[in-house]
Amino acid sequence: MPAPATLTVDLNALAANFRTLEALGGVPVHPVVKADSYGLGAAACARRLMAEGARTFFVARAAEGERLRAALGETPAIYVLDGCLPGCGARLRAAGLRPVLNADAQLAEWQAAGGGACGIQIDTGMNRLGFRPEAAPTPFEGLDLVLSHLACADDPAEPMNVRQRTAFAAAAARYPDAVRSFANSGGVFLGPDYAFDATRPGICLYGGGPEGRPEGRIQPVATLAAEILQLHEVPVGESVGYSRGFMATRPTRIATCAAGYADGVLRSYSPRGEVFVAGECRPIVGRVSMDACAVDVTGLDLAVGDRIELFGANRMLDDAATAAGTIAYELLTSVTARVPRVYVG
Ligand SMILES: *Cc1c(COP(=O)(O)O)cnc(C)c1O
Repeated sequence: MPAPATLTVDLNALAANFRTLEALGGVPVHPVVKADSYGLGAAACARRLMAEGARTFFVARAAEGERLRAALGETPAIYVLDGCLPGCGARLRAAGLRPVLNADAQLAEWQAAGGGACGIQIDTGMNRLGFRPEAAPTPFEGLDLVLSHLACADDPAEPMNVRQRTAFAAAAARYPDAVRSFANSGGVFLGPDYAFDATRPGICLYGGGPEGRPEGRIQPVATLAAEILQLHEVPVGESVGYSRGFMATRPTRIATCAAGYADGVLRSYSPRGEVFVAGECRPIVGRVSMDACAVDVTGLDLAVGDRIELFGANRMLDDAATAAGTIAYELLTSVTARVPRVYVG
């Protein structure tokens, strides 16, 4: 019996997106598998990406790196974007992780712990993490990767992209022995000038478009589906759900579906959310509750146990995110641990 709500992950589609991104960039893809591969499951995703040829991965936290190391064994390089936090050098070394150092204090911490293979991040304008170009360290033993991150890669018309690219090329020239990594998903689509030596996509591997809308070359990977728990014929004048969030102005058939905000169906889906059911898109009506949401299925021939799709091949992830007032990244990482991940392919 399948769980009432499931997140199905199509590993063949993940692999296809990996190959598409390698072909587009013309350089190796170093997948970003932080936040448990954006909620899809880092161990399963990274194993498949290794089978496709990936040998270098990025996570955000040291603990994510430790779990990934345990899942993948010794072969791949795993970089930790947080860098080397106070007291963490020995722990990173013990798991064979490579910090992406962001500041002099991190470099000192890493070297005091024994140092070794690591990267640095150059801040070319985002003001989030990294050394300012003028304060970047002189080349040192163990430094094998230099990266920077685009602030506006989802907007090809944004002039800041070119400024960051130029600043990165100049800064990275100081480290001729290091791999240069610049482009995230959006950056891969900005053209070959942005690829440098290796790209660093996340969202496009997992089926999101580079510009926050569906892109024909990127295949959907994740499907969030839930089964219908009960069907109601609601007469005119009655309401549905908490706070009478929906009022029936015509006889309405309502499907109560087994996915609520404790599964990752954001409350902000009300009132613009839609699901795919029985071949069409139908609105989520009323308030999303903790364990369930209500869908107007008037006129559809459905039975208890039939499944609705919140996002997937028929209801694109980016469109679902837009309807919920957010982005694909947040929609994916909002799917909670209650929802089993089911792997196909
Ligand atoms: C999350 C992240 C990425 C991946 O970004 P996408 O937009 O998902 O492709 C790449 N680099 C850094 C530094 C990141 O934090």
